[in-house]
Amino acid sequence: MVKKSKTLTIQVRELAERIDLLEATIEKKTKPKTRYDNSKDGNHFCCLPKVPERQFEEAVSPTRERLIRLIDKKWVNGTKLRYYIFKEGQFSGPASNVNLVKDGFKVWEDVGIGLSFEEVNDISEAELRIGFLQDGFSWSYVGRDNIDIPGQFERTMNFGWDLTLDPRGVDTPVHEIGHALGFPHEHQNPNSGIVWDEEAVYEYFGGPPNNWLPEDTYNNVLRKLPRSAVDGSDWDPNSVMHYGFGPGLIISPPEYAEGITPELGLSATDTLEVKHFYPPIPSAQYPELIPFGFKMLSLEPAQQSNYSVQPNATRTYTIQTFGSSDTVIVLFEEVDGELRFLAGDDDSGSSLNSKIEQRLYPDRKYVLRIRLYSQYSSGDTGVMMW
Ligand SMILES: [Zn+2]
Repeated sequence: MVKKSKTLTIQVRELAERIDLLEATIEKKTKPKTRYDNSKDGNHFCCLPKVPERQFEEAVSPTRERLIRLIDKKWVNGTKLRYYIFKEGQFSGPASNVNLVKDGFKVWEDVGIGLSFEEVNDISEAELRIGFLQDGFSWSYVGRDNIDIPGQFERTMNFGWDLTLDPRGVDTPVHEIGHALGFPHEHQNPNSGIVWDEEAVYEYFGGPPNNWLPEDTYNNVLRKLPRSAVDGSDWDPNSVMHYGFGPGLIISPPEYAEGITPELGLSATDTLEVKHFYPPIPSAQYPELIPFGFKMLSLEPAQQSNYSVQPNATRTYTIQTFGSSDTVIVLFEEVDGELRFLAGDDDSGSSLNSKIEQRLYPDRKYVLRIRLYSQYSSGDTGVMMW
């Protein structure tokens, strides 16, 4: 009896050991899926999805390329960005987090800009689709890249940790929404002069709670943005688009060896930048664009003209720019008091002109918006419809 009991004890111990081993194996196997440690430390960072960098033809001069890169992810000013928040399923999130994201939109709106935001309940209407999958990864696509994301039910933005535990508060949503408006990471500004301790940076972001792959760390921290993308703007370590960094990651400038903690909220430069690309649009009536009436565009790069389009018959019209310029043109139709996208074209980096062919009706209201990237040879730029 005693002997048998002893054997049983050994068997139970062996079984326990095997269970431990099995549990460890399971934990190891599932670790990549649950690599988020839901701690309060605020050391989680935005990890943008990788999008191929735009390439230009040889004929495009560096100046022209610089101006195109600066603007090509930005929305046409006056756009109403509609966002959808997942309310059920794996991408849904608690009301506390959803409300912080809505507050984030309000922070940008309160600056007084030409963009506006609206939550919609129909996902097919939304340019931005926001989820809360708690996998430790918060990210957004940048600016107009959002409309290229296929899959009606895919996210274009995610919040991967509990925002109510994040000491940065609303700044995390403000940061992600800043990407959606077309702004890149400020710590990747080539004018920062930051020299990283690359090994330490890879180790830091590769460790918990971020557990990034080396390519994530490279793309989101170490890689300097093309000078063009930041328009030679001075480095703004207080930008909401800048990460905070702990000690030991920055070699130079030496005053940041102990780290950088951006002040909370939008910086003065954030406010100036967003107003530069999206100045408030006066509500006064736009000048009219009528058939065969040529309009000269006297625009500086990044500036925009808006026209009220007045067709005089029901037929297909052509609206086109003239001159050696890079432009993006977007035609909107007023539906129930709101401007809805109807057609658009972007000739940047090509020798073509922006052109829209669209059936228009005289009893409907249309608005045309034209943003100039660059004027790459002498002469004027204009627009005409016929
Ligand atoms: Zn980011």
